[in-house]
Amino acid sequence: MTQHSTLAQAIAWASGQLQSSSESAKLDAEVLLLHILQKNRSYLFAWPEAELNAEQQQRFATLVERRQAGEPVAHLTGEREFWSLPLYVNNSTLIPRPDTETLVEQALALPLSAQAKVLDLGTGTGAIVLALASEQPGWQLMGVDFSHDAVALAEKNRQRLGFEHVEIRHSDWFSALAEQRFDLIVSNPPYICEQDEHLSQGDVRFEPLSALVAPEQGYADIRHIIEQALAYLTPDGYLMFEHGYQQAAGVRQIFAQMNYRNILTIKDMAGCDRVTMAQKPQ
Ligand code: GLN
Repeated sequence: MTQHSTLAQAIAWASGQLQSSSESAKLDAEVLLLHILQKNRSYLFAWPEAELNAEQQQRFATLVERRQAGEPVAHLTGEREFWSLPLYVNNSTLIPRPDTETLVEQALALPLSAQAKVLDLGTGTGAIVLALASEQPGWQLMGVDFSHDAVALAEKNRQRLGFEHVEIRHSDWFSALAEQRFDLIVSNPPYICEQDEHLSQGDVRFEPLSALVAPEQGYADIRHIIEQALAYLTPDGYLMFEHGYQQAAGVRQIFAQMNYRNILTIKDMAGCDRVTMAQKPQ
């Protein structure tokens, strides 16, 4: 693509290439180009006529081709922003989603002490626990995951952000947490049911099924956590989940069966039920 050597030309070319495979062709093109240039957005607007060298053009063309084949932009750049924090991502975890910021907001709105102990189950990239840590320097936070690759990734993100008040640990849900008590337990567990057609479209095809799919119509892990959490919550402790937009009633029912108190569902930015929380039974 030597004839498309300015930034503006490269974006125009790549947007055209990605038109049929991506709903955000222009944005994808911009993000991929900025990744190669190692610049932030304003650079594109300031220097549209800047020239790409041959090596940059070649690398850009390769990324555009991979994007055309469906790979998520975040996998191509190796990064995704969540709660304004830059996070490394790879194919061992979910790519952090804006919807999940609803859970972070809700957790920060709870009447917890400045020294609260907080656990994130299935932390993946560490997005949730690191976002909470960025707002609450006095909290003692722990993020666990059963995937060793996820633990390595979350730890890398923790170190990048320099959050000493977060511990990342390997654990299959609560298995490595004996004797610990938390004022707040949060989780974005797998909650999609196996037959969901959403699994064959878009970025999710490149994410681990173990982070997405759960038996029992998607409720198996949520149920397990609700039952087990009784032994790990402080007396007034809160348990909070992200879940599918049609699962609020189901999650509320499991909480109610286990006698949790003050069950509350919160909607995401799109107005869909997305987060349900409750307090430990008395
Ligand atoms: N919200 C995600 C999706 O729709 C699923 C996240 C999850 O299973 N925890 O792809």
